[in-house]
Amino acid sequence: MSIPAPQSLDHGIHLIPVPLPYKSPPWVNVYAVESNGGLLLIDCGTDWEPGREAIRQGFADLGLEESAVHTLVVSHLHPDHVGMSARLVSDWGCRFVMHERAAKLVDRYNDSPGYMNRLVKIGSVHGIPDSATNAATHVERPDYMPLLEPPDFLVGDGDTIDLGDGRSLHVVHTPGHEPAHICLRDSRTGILFSGDHILPRISPVIMYDLDLGDVLGDYLGSLQRLIAMDLGVTYPAHGTLIDQGGERARQILLHHDRRLLDMAELVRSEDTTAWNVMLKSFRPNLDPLQSRLAFLETISHLEHLRLTGRIRDEERNGKVIYRA
Ligand SMILES: [Zn+2]
Repeated sequence: MSIPAPQSLDHGIHLIPVPLPYKSPPWVNVYAVESNGGLLLIDCGTDWEPGREAIRQGFADLGLEESAVHTLVVSHLHPDHVGMSARLVSDWGCRFVMHERAAKLVDRYNDSPGYMNRLVKIGSVHGIPDSATNAATHVERPDYMPLLEPPDFLVGDGDTIDLGDGRSLHVVHTPGHEPAHICLRDSRTGILFSGDHILPRISPVIMYDLDLGDVLGDYLGSLQRLIAMDLGVTYPAHGTLIDQGGERARQILLHHDRRLLDMAELVRSEDTTAWNVMLKSFRPNLDPLQSRLAFLETISHLEHLRLTGRIRDEERNGKVIYRA
């Protein structure tokens, strides 16, 4: 899919699609919002040369000045959103804003060996066979994901970020895809900058991790909260702009409901591990990254079913076996 050209939207909002070093999603939408005589940027992409070039060229094409950026807000701590932040904050001297929960997660983001240890542990407990262990749990820290610097400004749910002229961005904490995920709602237009929380066509992966609890429950709760806010135009971090954000959120809820029903059915038909449920729920021949994400997504669904009392688990030979 070719990456769209940068464009100036209405209401002082500019969109710069920035390429990513992944097959999917191929780019991240960076939004530059005119505010207080300068610019506030939402998300920034991974730290690699094509991304840096896209930002330079995008600013030039749209007649924007990089020196006008006074604030970088990131929707969440994944490298396709926050990867380039340390470089931009240092180059531009702008303030760096995240959700307050992200401050505690910066060390976790920077700790690749710790992440790998957790993956190995999750893999062995949830039934990954030895033949697949290395491919699904071995993660090299890529060059495009340099260490993160801590934020210098924290926001919480319900806070507002002032844009000047009586306009602001209203912060909505939407944990699930990532614990510190935020959406931002423009007080003037009602437009929601949805990060990865609501995406067109694809649903964001909901990754189980140790110590994060019921991440799918968090995600579904966050979706329901947004639906109750009567969403319209929604600007996602990947793909095309969404006319009816509330409608799209409902579709994603349905997608997870179906997946939960299917997985509960599989567990009812036989006592099984998360790895086996994953093999029966996703298409075969996933590459290592896809199979890791599918595995973590499967566990988040099974754990949600367990924590809401729809299935049970027991430990057998150090493995978690899900059962009706
Ligand atoms: Zn993303």
